[in-house]
Amino acid sequence: MIYAGTHVTAGHGRAVVVATGTTTEVGKIAGLTAETEEPRTPLEGRVEILGRWILVGAAVLFASVMGLGVLRRLPLAQVLAVAISQVVSMVPEGLPVAMTIALAVGVKRMAARRAIVRRLSAIEALGSTTVILSDKTGTLTRNEMTVTEIGLPGGRAITVTGVGYSPEGSFLEADKPMDVRSDEALHALLEAAVLCNDAQLVPPTAADARWLPLGDPTEAALLTTSAKAGIDVADARQRFERRAELPFDPTAKMMATEHATPSGSLVVLKGAPEAVLDLCSKARIGSSEVSLDSRMRDEVRGAAERMAGRALRVLAVAAVAEAGLDPRSGFEGLRELPTFLGLVGELDPPRPEVREAVRACRGAGVRPVVVTGDNKATGVAVARDLGIAREGDLAIDGGELEALTDAELAKVLPSVSVFARVQPSQKLRIVKAFQAGGAVVAMTGDGVNDAPALARADVGVAMGITGTEVAKEAAKVVVTDDNFATIVAAIEEGRLVYKNLKKLILYLFSTSMAAVLVLLAALLCGCPLPLAAVQVLWINVVTETMVTVNLVMDPPEAGLMRRAPVPRDEPLLDRALLGRMALMTPTIALSTFAYFAYQLATGESPATAQTSTFTVLAVCLWFNVLNCRSETESALRPSLLGNRWLVAGLVLGNVLHAAVVFVQQLNAVFHTVPLPLHEVFVIGAIGSVVLWVEEIRKLLVRRRDRRTGARVDA
Ligand code: ATP
Repeated sequence: MIYAGTHVTAGHGRAVVVATGTTTEVGKIAGLTAETEEPRTPLEGRVEILGRWILVGAAVLFASVMGLGVLRRLPLAQVLAVAISQVVSMVPEGLPVAMTIALAVGVKRMAARRAIVRRLSAIEALGSTTVILSDKTGTLTRNEMTVTEIGLPGGRAITVTGVGYSPEGSFLEADKPMDVRSDEALHALLEAAVLCNDAQLVPPTAADARWLPLGDPTEAALLTTSAKAGIDVADARQRFERRAELPFDPTAKMMATEHATPSGSLVVLKGAPEAVLDLCSKARIGSSEVSLDSRMRDEVRGAAERMAGRALRVLAVAAVAEAGLDPRSGFEGLRELPTFLGLVGELDPPRPEVREAVRACRGAGVRPVVVTGDNKATGVAVARDLGIAREGDLAIDGGELEALTDAELAKVLPSVSVFARVQPSQKLRIVKAFQAGGAVVAMTGDGVNDAPALARADVGVAMGITGTEVAKEAAKVVVTDDNFATIVAAIEEGRLVYKNLKKLILYLFSTSMAAVLVLLAALLCGCPLPLAAVQVLWINVVTETMVTVNLVMDPPEAGLMRRAPVPRDEPLLDRALLGRMALMTPTIALSTFAYFAYQLATGESPATAQTSTFTVLAVCLWFNVLNCRSETESALRPSLLGNRWLVAGLVLGNVLHAAVVFVQQLNAVFHTVPLPLHEVFVIGAIGSVVLWVEEIRKLLVRRRDRRTGARVDA
């Protein structure tokens, strides 16, 4: 019985489905899992720390207000109401809701860009990513293989024409068309490549006019080439029925199959040239077999290396007659037996969008590194082409990596841009080495063996198309199109979520603290209360919430991918935010309190003074939300219409506030009185002071950044 969720690590089989969905064993477990809580994310941890500080601050505030009130012999009920409203105004009630929405919006936006987030913590980690360790085939390249070169023993070099999987094309030797059918050596190589092969070619249909690969594109390309040479794939597979196999092993980098022949059996082997060559003792030249001496070995290695240098994925093919496969001894059981048939070089064009994504990465302080199972020369050629490898960069292969101690690896790590012929188990070591150097690592993977490294990476990224279920389960993000550019897009979204969260926190804290300061100032000065308790509640629950939730919908600013990644240990309220708060909060508090004091001095009734103060504070908050949208840009620069949610929130907030002030029935509830129209304009002007103060600060910062060359915004 194969249970749903069972992972097939290798081989082939046929199965009958006897249960689906919730009736499977895994379905039952899924019911249980749904009830289990997800572990807390680092962000939740940071918010909890912040929450504790707020709790302590609120307790201190409550005690001080009560103490002050009692000292000033105010009626206890009034002091209690003020103390409670102070605490309410200090606690940012909108934070949990807005944070959840920010993350949910991030998940949705990433999904729209083809990155599915499996764990919320990945969003934060994506924003802080400093290194992307990427596979080559399919991620940087299209995974559309075409055989363009064939190397036969004896120094023969053959070029194959044609593109894609369509079996149309010809074979050229020394630029002259060749008669493939009479070339026994080439025929033997291509027939072997058809047998040691699990792929199929799907002919054009009414829906799709192209030939398509079914299975591994590396293998499908071999079928196309054989078909170009007139080999009937189905017929060959029928004549030489497969009896046994050693499936492709990413560690050995080979696969082998055993076939029945009229005279007995045939074993065919294909894989990485150095691995196959290591097992062979003979080579086929024309129709005869010669001993594979060291000179010929060097010749073959040289030819493979030259193909790899042209960014080709190179496979070697070998065969041995009258032999069998023994799963216990594996590939070693074939040592010294096979006859080397030739090399095949497959071209896999780079994805066109990756060059731009690599550029964006570098601009964003994120380093791309290729980690491939392929040959070093192939890896370097592709990395060079895409701008990942640059002058002076190092490429290390699996063998060299093995020979390095951890300390030596740490020393060379900053200049390595390609890890080649990497064993799946070495990927984990590479991830750990980068993390030990302080990097936040995103790593791609598809195979079962990639799972430990994917789980260990800060952001494991599984491939949606080629990825195994095991890899997807170990990863935090699944990229549905297997594309490197999608990972970079996800990093941008991760940064946006984090940035919007910080805007939100700045806004909530600067405004809440301003309300606290106004009330405290009044208590200290012995004035009547500037705001009624219900007005404080209104400011907190309606005025703030109406815009905070919408602040997280802000689109990305132009400079988002031109800044350095967010440091991993940066607190939510960092120095930059505290600095901005230190300017915003007193400005809001001062504008509000000064107007209140002026109203009292001119003999206005306490109800009118409170209504004016309540309105000044609300107007300050509306202007301040515009301030929080950008750290350095003018408040209206990130186009206001770019965030229609915010505009709607502001309009609705204004309408509701006007209702509270001007609708008679609500006046009694909110302790308000209608204000004369001319005063509304004065209040508007006073409320905008915080905007102008921030505008001046931003202008000075922009000037300084321009002088020092640190300016990154557009
Ligand atoms: P990449 O980074 O390009 O995705 P990878 O880690 O997936 O590389 P593998 O698919 O493990 O690399 O391939 C490693 C080597 O194994 C290739 O260079 C090739 O020589 C050989 N190889 C790949 N696919 C097959 C196959 N189907 N049969 C035999 N050999 C193969």
